[in-house]
Amino acid sequence: MAVQSVEPSTTSVDLGPAAALSCRECGERFDLGPIFACALCFGPLEVAYELPAGDPGTLRERIEAGPANIWRYAPLLPVPADVAGKPSLNPGLTKLVKADNLARALGVTGGLYVKDDSGNPTHSFKDRVVAIAVEAARAFGFTTLSCSSTGNLAGAVGAAAARAGFKSCVFIPHDLEAGKVVMAAVYGGDLVGIEGTYDDVNRFCSELIGDPLGEGWGFVNVNLRPYYGEGSKTLAYEICEQLGWRLPDQIVVPIASGSQLTKIDKGLKELVALGLVEDRPYKIFGAQAEGCSPVARAFKDGHDVVRPVKPDTIAKSLAIGNPADGPYVLDIARRTGGAVEDVTDEQIVDAIRLLARTEGIFAETAGGVTVGVTRKLIESGRLDPSLTTVVLNTGDGLKTLDAVAAGPTATIRPSLEAFRAAGLAAV
Ligand SMILES: *Cc1c(COP(=O)(O)O)cnc(C)c1O
Ligand SMILES: [Zn+2]
Repeated sequence: MAVQSVEPSTTSVDLGPAAALSCRECGERFDLGPIFACALCFGPLEVAYELPAGDPGTLRERIEAGPANIWRYAPLLPVPADVAGKPSLNPGLTKLVKADNLARALGVTGGLYVKDDSGNPTHSFKDRVVAIAVEAARAFGFTTLSCSSTGNLAGAVGAAAARAGFKSCVFIPHDLEAGKVVMAAVYGGDLVGIEGTYDDVNRFCSELIGDPLGEGWGFVNVNLRPYYGEGSKTLAYEICEQLGWRLPDQIVVPIASGSQLTKIDKGLKELVALGLVEDRPYKIFGAQAEGCSPVARAFKDGHDVVRPVKPDTIAKSLAIGNPADGPYVLDIARRTGGAVEDVTDEQIVDAIRLLARTEGIFAETAGGVTVGVTRKLIESGRLDPSLTTVVLNTGDGLKTLDAVAAGPTATIRPSLEAFRAAGLAAV
């Protein structure tokens, strides 16, 4: 990872409770700015806070009285206190669906929930992370938003830029699903297809940041990555609040770069530290597609390092062969007693159909990955069916239509006779 050459602007930055950036590896602290790698050890930087002190009951009431989107958690995020009044897509507070039919199908008795992030403004969880990155971009004076994307992020950046009055130029692998391409292009910013994999796109963007060609651009998942990542904490906050301010026992999270999984863990730990939920053990499970499962591979082999792979799977939103947060995901899965597991493309499709059939939720391939992995973990006895379990669906099936071959049961002439002949009627 290249070190940022731009000097961070420090003095007038108001990002609420965010106090500094700190290195995940060596702990060195840096002033808030558009930097993402430690100047001493190249470790990734993350936001360090001065979180609100005092009575948890008061904070809980303040959150509950807040807006019906992620900004209700503004006191715990790197955003200015008046963030809810700024132009934003206002993502979040998506449904936590009590999935009783799916629970029966999978044999879960302790309560199974689907956190359905397809309900976000651009139909994926990425609206959360982008909304936070936009506030950082504003604070640091960027006027163009950019990203390297596996698909959903490009759409989320395009839409957020349109709403918030930024220009945008986003980069994707050239061979994405039509639904993702249209979503990334329709908001009016520039969309560039790169001939290569996501990892090639990401490397290209890192080069662009160090070059005058990318001057003044905020790459939400590169030079704004420390802020971007914090948006995933809101998934943890919402799940706990929607469970009645309670930690889930088990949670199944998809892995692309691994950022979401690590920040969900960070969010859960913060709620415990703030006294907003009771401290008890929880397990975090990571889910990958077999065609791109470098973290699952390392977990199964007992390795601490993640060996990069070349992705080949229908779960394109998760197709990152060299996941930046892979080692941290391994730490969390091992520390909490979870696991990282993978499923085949066929199992992904089966799981998409199962979720649709049982709960009326049409997930994109990433949701097929988490539901499929949940099933596999139950079958192998690693996920306890008697405990409260939350499975994330992070995207919308309408963006990955080609993954599921579904069509009419019959096509007939408009006559009762033809309908009777089709054998679908009650009598
Ligand atoms: C980006 C993405 C994820 C997770 O990404 P991380 O890089 O691991 O944070 C999960 N699901 C979908 C649908 C995504 O687009
Ligand atoms: Zn460091």
